[in-house]
Amino acid sequence: MTDVTILRVAVPTPALDSFDYLPPPDATTAPPAPGIRVRVGFGARRLIGLVVGHGRESQVPLHRLRPVLKVLDSYPILDARDLELLCWASRYYHHPLGEVISAALPKRVRQGHAAARDGIILWRLSERGRQPGPGSMLRAPRQAALMALLGEHPEGLDSTQIETRLPNSRQPLAALEKKQLITKTSRPCLDVLDVEPVPAPSLNADQRAAIDVIVAGFGRFNPMVLDGVTGSGKTEVYLTAIAAAIEAGRQALLLVPEIALTPQLVARFRARFSGPLALMHSGLSDAQRHCAWHMARTGRAQIIVGTRSAVFTPLAAPGIIIVDEEHDGSFKQQEGFRYHARDLAVIRAHLWKIPVVLGSATVSLETLYNVERGKYRRVRLPARARRLSPPSLETVDVRRRQLSDGFSPLVLEQVRRHLESRDQVLVFLNRRGYAPALVCHGCGWAAACERCDARLTLHAGRNRLCCHHCGAERSIDPRCPACDGAELLRLGEGTERIEQALKAAFPGVSLVRVDRDTTRRKGALQDKLAGIERGAHQLLVGTQMLSKGHDFPNVTLAVILNIDQNLYSSDFRALERAAQLIVQVAGRAGRGERVGQVILQTHLPDHPLLEQLLRGGYEAFSRAALAERRLADLPPYRHMALIRAEAVRRNAPMGFLRRARAILSNSRKARVDLLGPAPAPMERRGGRYRAQLMLIGGQRSALQRMLQEGVPMLGKLPEAREVRFTIDVDPVDTL
Ligand code: ADP
Ligand code: ZN
Ligand code: ZN
Repeated sequence: MTDVTILRVAVPTPALDSFDYLPPPDATTAPPAPGIRVRVGFGARRLIGLVVGHGRESQVPLHRLRPVLKVLDSYPILDARDLELLCWASRYYHHPLGEVISAALPKRVRQGHAAARDGIILWRLSERGRQPGPGSMLRAPRQAALMALLGEHPEGLDSTQIETRLPNSRQPLAALEKKQLITKTSRPCLDVLDVEPVPAPSLNADQRAAIDVIVAGFGRFNPMVLDGVTGSGKTEVYLTAIAAAIEAGRQALLLVPEIALTPQLVARFRARFSGPLALMHSGLSDAQRHCAWHMARTGRAQIIVGTRSAVFTPLAAPGIIIVDEEHDGSFKQQEGFRYHARDLAVIRAHLWKIPVVLGSATVSLETLYNVERGKYRRVRLPARARRLSPPSLETVDVRRRQLSDGFSPLVLEQVRRHLESRDQVLVFLNRRGYAPALVCHGCGWAAACERCDARLTLHAGRNRLCCHHCGAERSIDPRCPACDGAELLRLGEGTERIEQALKAAFPGVSLVRVDRDTTRRKGALQDKLAGIERGAHQLLVGTQMLSKGHDFPNVTLAVILNIDQNLYSSDFRALERAAQLIVQVAGRAGRGERVGQVILQTHLPDHPLLEQLLRGGYEAFSRAALAERRLADLPPYRHMALIRAEAVRRNAPMGFLRRARAILSNSRKARVDLLGPAPAPMERRGGRYRAQLMLIGGQRSALQRMLQEGVPMLGKLPEAREVRFTIDVDPVDTL
């Protein structure tokens, strides 16, 4: 014990814990409080860290502790409760604290820039710069490139946007400004809309009941599940609850799966609230993100809408957290710091003592289990808000049927019927490209990725073979490289082929395809969605980009083409995901005046899942699926973690995980089963071999204790030098 305050500082390094430092020697003021950034010497480097606590003792002898070099903030940039959330997440996910904190802060703040930021400087061409002449005569190539870039962006670009397109642009920017060819303007961080808000509809009784539960729970931890089919009015409930929170002087945080996929949702928020709204998603520039972050933490943004990482956005006065489509897999980060934003939202609401609403038409089995155990309260919205009947769901058995380009004639007949009555038809297929395999008819050779255990997908539009796992691509073989045969078959269907087949079957009908390939250009997705809404297209073909969130009132038929691959998958969550997908796609059909029809084309019409879903809907399915998980001793009845390892050398991950297993079983006190290690289902990906060790136990605390004791030792193993490993607590898949 000393009377010196020791600072616990988290620095962005792979160390699991914080490091001890002394306050700056010359300081006459109090030592920097938790939540304040400091610059520290770390080995030979200088890093920016965050004070996460104070102490009186250290494992390191006092004379060997170094003082921090500089204190960067006068006030904490994070509230104590949010700091606690990050520490909790670091412990629970067994991920280095410094990296967890980095994930929560905008890059500019991590780099040590001032935390406050009140606007964005935008550069654009000046009056003079737009004239033909001086700008185009520039001799300095960097300046000319910058002029050209700004010429393409009359709306203006901020410095980070410029930097990502043209690195090292500082000097040319200054030079051009001096020549008065460009000018800068400052735009405030938040646009406050100058429109008369659209009034809310009067809520129905179920919606009112939901609101009453939420509002009665203001000011305390009140987790609620809003369970209602697509179109039942959940978003209206969110909007009303948020209005109530704002009315009470508080902020609302809404998490959504992908903002790019939900322009309609954002538009509804914009229409209802003229007040300041901040969007947080991966499409922002660093400056924009910093701005939104600052507006949220100072309370100037009343509503924060964001994707996964927005769960960490600091708020001055949090009032409510809402997670829309809580079942969606995108809330789980799938690399590095593998947190689940929905679960962290609940923890955060608990720390802040505020209500949290988890909304979905296809509530996840974990969440339903928490309802069963009485941890979450469930409120249902049983009917579609505008009194529409639910879509009818049917299967079309394609066993022993002749398919043409993946379509059964029966299905094509139905498509024709709906097109003839001038309705829209959606064809869903979870695979992009033309064909998932290129196979030699002579010898059976199939084009495979050199870096993955996977076939290459043929993309006809780009005339390339592409790997959907590592991004590798190459030209299409004209002949078989194994037997020199010339007959290469394009097996199976992707969206491109479906598009072609439908165009051939229904010439003259306007078709739009929505998948990652057709929406790369910024704004392309919005344009296509707007076209669908306008009725410019009658046939819609797409991947899950089309299955989420959109409201297409004129779609009366949805066809799901290849659900079978989900039904065959070895992953224990595959059936749950299949059911959610079917119900979500079905939810797109018949939101308008007419009853919708949904057709599943399948080789497995007798599959128990499909039968349950058809007979009893998602409710019946989920009850049966939970019972099955209980029997099989799987999550959510038991708790799971995976240690995933990968390396260039084939045997390295298995060797490492065998040692890991030995260490973990040594530290075992309670009952946790260790399964494996085993190679991952796709063993090689991106040139690396992968393996995993599964931990599964009846008690979360026992599993956590085992990881807590074991994980710090793993990094020190000699075998660890060759592998990259991550801890995946509550994995969403085991693939
Ligand atoms: P969900 O989010 O569950 O899919 P929405 O909130 O988007 O449902 O509601 C579906 C449609 O019904 C929307 O067009 C919405 O404006 C409308 N709606 C929702 N609640 C009401 C209500 N109480 N009165 C009239 N229309 C409503
Ligand atoms: Zn061949
Ligand atoms: Zn690959």
